[in-house]
Amino acid sequence: MDNCIFCKIIAGEIPSTKVYEDEKTYAFYDLNPQAKQHVLVVGKRHHNNIVEACEDSIDTVSACINTCTIVAKQLGIDKTGFRIVTNCGKDACQSVFHLHFHVIGGEKLSERMA
Ligand code: AMP
Repeated sequence: MDNCIFCKIIAGEIPSTKVYEDEKTYAFYDLNPQAKQHVLVVGKRHHNNIVEACEDSIDTVSACINTCTIVAKQLGIDKTGFRIVTNCGKDACQSVFHLHFHVIGGEKLSERMA
């Protein structure tokens, strides 16, 4: 999609540090990490958010979740623990309108989620 920063990252038009890639998903390090480990997992097909993705392509959503667990194993945080977060809309402070999941861990995370 034109003017979508994550579509441009997937296309290689904007640089990123790749962690994992397969047919349906792409994972890369977040530019502003909020924990010792912070990776973003995106679907290669553009959807603005999780609501639109579930309406259009549940395959993309399940592929992303699967990739989150692959990434967690790759980062070595699958046993110590990690969090998967997707922000949807204004109240959740979504800032990039291309479906993505934050994989956050590598340290003890806050008990509060909001
Ligand atoms: P959200 O606020 O949930 O929409 O998350 C968007 C995330 O994208 C933020 O954590 C940003 O730090 C991250 N981000 C924005 N631009 C880039 C970029 N070019 N490379 C890596 N991460 C980015």
